[in-house]
Amino acid sequence: MKIEDVRAHFEAGFRVTPGCWEWLRGKDRGYGILKSGGVKYKAYRFSYELYVGPIPPGLHLRHLCNNPSCVNPDNLKPGTHAENMKDIAVSGKKKGQRPSTTVLTEEKVREIKKLLKESQRTVGCIAKQFGVCPSTISHIRTGRLWSDII
Ligand SMILES: [Zn+2]
Repeated sequence: MKIEDVRAHFEAGFRVTPGCWEWLRGKDRGYGILKSGGVKYKAYRFSYELYVGPIPPGLHLRHLCNNPSCVNPDNLKPGTHAENMKDIAVSGKKKGQRPSTTVLTEEKVREIKKLLKESQRTVGCIAKQFGVCPSTISHIRTGRLWSDII
């Protein structure tokens, strides 16, 4: 099973809303489950590792948006179990949190598109260079954002 195949399954499995990426496939206790090639993945963990990078050993991924079916890497942050429990306790206040808006210009987007096409650099790496969230770069790549810029 190649990572690209799993990725294709993953990227067909959610719907993007202004704050969250809603997982549309199977769920376990509210958390998205990605099944691909006979293997089960936790969809939000897969998303984080795909767009951001490896989750540090021993840490949980926290949903900053308190929406367990969300797979938006902007809404996910590694944390300890205790922090996770604290999040749940204040869940009422945090609902509706949205990723920070970016300050991309048309020129920067053109540069990003060029990098995506012509370089071997990862989404996370390009995101760091431009100071934006990896999901923004990912959206540019898939055409969900800035599709009018060529
Ligand atoms: Zn979310």
